[in-house]
Amino acid sequence: MRGLMQGDHLLISSLIEFANKNHGDSEIISRRVEGDIHRSNWASVYARSKQVAQALDAWKIGAGTRIATLAWNGYRHLELYYGVSGSERVLHTLNPRLLPDQIAWIVGHAHDEVVCFELTFLPIVKAIHAHCPSVKHWVVLCDESALPKETGLPPLLSYEAWIKPFEGQHYTWPLFDENTASSMCYTSGTTGHPKAALYSHRSTVLHAFATCQVDVFGISARDSILPVVPMFHVNAWGLPYASAMAGAKLVFPGPGLDGKSVYELMEHEGVTFAAGVPTVWQMLLNYMAPLGVKFSSLQRTIIGGSACPPAMIHAFQEDYGVEVLHAWGMTEMSPLGTVCTLKNKHLKLSKDEQMKIRLKQGRALYGVDLKIVGDSGDPLPHDGAAFGDLYVKGPWVIENYYKNEQGSPLVDGWFPTGDVATIDPDGFIQITDRSKDVIKSGGEWISSIEIENIAMAHPSVMMAACIGMAHPKWDERPVVVVVLRPEKTLTKDELIAFYEGKIAKWQTPDDVVFVDAIPLGATGKMLKTRLREQLKGYSLPKS
Ligand code: AMP
Repeated sequence: MRGLMQGDHLLISSLIEFANKNHGDSEIISRRVEGDIHRSNWASVYARSKQVAQALDAWKIGAGTRIATLAWNGYRHLELYYGVSGSERVLHTLNPRLLPDQIAWIVGHAHDEVVCFELTFLPIVKAIHAHCPSVKHWVVLCDESALPKETGLPPLLSYEAWIKPFEGQHYTWPLFDENTASSMCYTSGTTGHPKAALYSHRSTVLHAFATCQVDVFGISARDSILPVVPMFHVNAWGLPYASAMAGAKLVFPGPGLDGKSVYELMEHEGVTFAAGVPTVWQMLLNYMAPLGVKFSSLQRTIIGGSACPPAMIHAFQEDYGVEVLHAWGMTEMSPLGTVCTLKNKHLKLSKDEQMKIRLKQGRALYGVDLKIVGDSGDPLPHDGAAFGDLYVKGPWVIENYYKNEQGSPLVDGWFPTGDVATIDPDGFIQITDRSKDVIKSGGEWISSIEIENIAMAHPSVMMAACIGMAHPKWDERPVVVVVLRPEKTLTKDELIAFYEGKIAKWQTPDDVVFVDAIPLGATGKMLKTRLREQLKGYSLPKS
């Protein structure tokens, strides 16, 4: 028997309709590439996203066509989020940190017809322009007066001139099936070509519902939200959608991701909630600590994308009174899978016991099912000790990659994440590694994340990466590569001694290599493949 309830489809346009109707004056603040701070609100984003939809109609861009962006976090990017997806086209967020060759390949693979880009990315457009035959229109996200002249490119169109003719014009969002594609994002792809996750309206709206839950991001109309995580990577963890659903204020950092710019924006705009990868927060804390400044409004911050070092969770909580929510997810999961929030029974634990839980990546949110399996493919117990390959399933988990010629990545309906984890009896996962980064020593596995976390807790260490080096007897042994804090010194022996009592002797790194910098990938994660290449001539000390 069918239920007798209204069957409205879950469309992204419903989010912006809601935000306009109920939270029209909630602010949208953006630091622009022009350097100034721009002030907008949900009502303006609503009106201008409809102008975007009509501008695309005027160009006769069909439903399902990919519209790409090369843009920072800002109000124009937000307008494209709603204008493109709301009008049944597919928003394709390009990662400007990739090499031009990779970007051109991705544009061709996605068959993007329009590219909307920020002025700062003109050099990328110049490099890729001749290699993107699918692109019919290049739009610069700026005012008419800021359009660059004599670029060597065919005449460019400014975003403001493009949408201006539709100001005040009536427009109704089209209605269509909620399983229609809404946006796409290519994985960073450390090996081989990048692969695209193609999100749907349904997956995006359900993910937004889920992230608003109190035990997830707990987003409300009282929040002022700073997504430092880029809108070009997994839709800024879905925050542009969840914020509309909650009617929250949004604060966009634009290109200003250094500690000073982020701190000043947070203070000026009363930011209560922020989200980003550990490297960004490291820059922020490095800026604040020597000045002795504190946060006056920040209450909680989501840290994910790579393992959050315990020292960082500690610094946020103890030195600044800010709650850290450690989260895990991936492009293929829209991205959220787990968030670390305590349960009622944990409230009576000591601070130290609670901290042990907070260091984990957290527990599944409703909608995400998790399991770990061993080499044989059999499920492993959720005892917090057994670790194996982590599999996921759920309505915002990928079913297949876009234009994938290699068949479905699913195994019995589950997506293999490529992460290795434990799951404890309370459902909290702890990621020990990417499966390709696990160090196998004498038949036992060593977690590179654990080795890195301990090094990062040393006051002289700014960044640490642990990799396995081939060893004639043990297969592999861990080596920790370290970047020191400015004006700090540390010897190999001192750091090795720091591991004593924290992990078993056989898990302790065999060597420490000091470097000036650790290569980071396009999403701010340590690039261990490149690090391994850099250490090619290196050999382990004789033991
Ligand atoms: P991406 O698809 O580029 O966002 O990368 C997803 C991958 O980042 C995951 O599969 C994990 O390997 C890693 N990752 C994300 N969040 C965390 C976390 N909190 N701790 C450890 N690794 C993480």
